[in-house]
Amino acid sequence: MSKAHSKVAHPTDPGVLIVGAGITGLMTATALPTLAHRLSLVDKGKSVGGRLATRRMAGGRADHGAQFFTARSAAFSAYVENWQRDGLLFTWSNGWSDGSLAAAPNDGHARYAVHGGMNALAKQLAATISASGAAVHTGVRLQAISRTADGWWACSVDGRVYTAQILVLTAPVPQSLALLAEGDVVLDVDDAERLGRIAYAPSLCALLHFDVELDLPAPGAFQRPDALVPWLADNRRKGISPESTVLTAHASAAFSHRHFDDADDLIIHAFLGELAPLLNKVPAPVEVQIKRWRYALPTTLDAAPFLRAANLPPLFFGGDAFGAPRVEGAALSGLAIADALRAIMAPAAPDIVPDNELVRPVNARHDA
Ligand SMILES: Cc1cc2nc3c(=O)[nH]c(=O)nc-3n(C[C@H](O)[C@H](O)[C@H](O)COP(=O)(O)OP(=O)(O)OC[C@H]3O[C@@H](n4cnc5c(N)ncnc54)[C@H](O)[C@@H]3O)c2cc1C
Repeated sequence: MSKAHSKVAHPTDPGVLIVGAGITGLMTATALPTLAHRLSLVDKGKSVGGRLATRRMAGGRADHGAQFFTARSAAFSAYVENWQRDGLLFTWSNGWSDGSLAAAPNDGHARYAVHGGMNALAKQLAATISASGAAVHTGVRLQAISRTADGWWACSVDGRVYTAQILVLTAPVPQSLALLAEGDVVLDVDDAERLGRIAYAPSLCALLHFDVELDLPAPGAFQRPDALVPWLADNRRKGISPESTVLTAHASAAFSHRHFDDADDLIIHAFLGELAPLLNKVPAPVEVQIKRWRYALPTTLDAAPFLRAANLPPLFFGGDAFGAPRVEGAALSGLAIADALRAIMAPAAPDIVPDNELVRPVNARHDA
């Protein structure tokens, strides 16, 4: 890291710096509308959303991270119902064909997808958060985070500096730990052990453009849990790519580990080999793009919905590796962090604070 930057407060010093505007960070901010003016979110992506990712291709669109999500908890279902009422979501399916059936079985759980692609949900959440006063900065790749006298200091690769009293890290845990290590932050031994146990599997994704319409089983996707390419979905049939046939194929953890560092050509060759029996009656794709997700899905999770670091200024770790995985688990982690922040940031109730006691606002400048 360049240690040449002086650790001075940023002119718009927020109370809380949230690193990562994926669903975890966005739900934290969404649940704190009255504190929004004290929140700042930064993300290295060109867009918000993280693994809620949609790419334009061949005049159409493809979801290349999360494909759909479920809502099994009351807390997340309440948001999902609102998003559905607002016309953001649709129920794509209630279960998936394994490729051998004409129709998908119904297991009673709605699989929700987002009109215009999964990333559109993240953009909508970010727009609402911004409108309520939070600062959302994309294209900010943080390089190091270190401590100040009473909080945190973060520096981006292009020299932008952010300070805050409270820090929320929602990137995949190895990435968050790397930022702290670069800034010489030493974690409590127990916390470091818990965080060090968290692990993720990678995922390789292929996006395949065809110049014909295809006929995958309804509703245009299938899941074969034991296959090397367990997921294949037609984004046109999904309804997010009416202009163009673009399929999304996701490889298993085993396939992804084996090929992760291969050149794109080799990965495409391996994908097409696995998909050949399924696509043998259609012309070859006219274009294939590869996306590598190094931290796609957590394989060893921490049981709690977030971790608050001991013996440091307020520092929270959250994301889909805490509590429960996937979009819903990440959202619940974000909501749990919001509850914890509300407890720290809310003004103390008047009846338990003596009149003469000075309550220092959490977003007070540390040099004030
Ligand atoms: C291929 C694939 C398929 C999936 N399919 C499904 C599915 O069908 N259903 C489902 O429910 N879930 C699925 N998931 C999982 C789901 O996408 C994730 O669980 C969820 O989106 C995680 O959200 P998050 O906010 O915790 O993390 P992320 O979305 O990863 O957000 C973390 C953010 O941190 C940012 N960041 C990282 N480092 C820095 C840095 N140095 N500086 C600034 N910003 C930084 C990143 O840009 C990112 O936006 C899938 C994931 C993948 C990869």
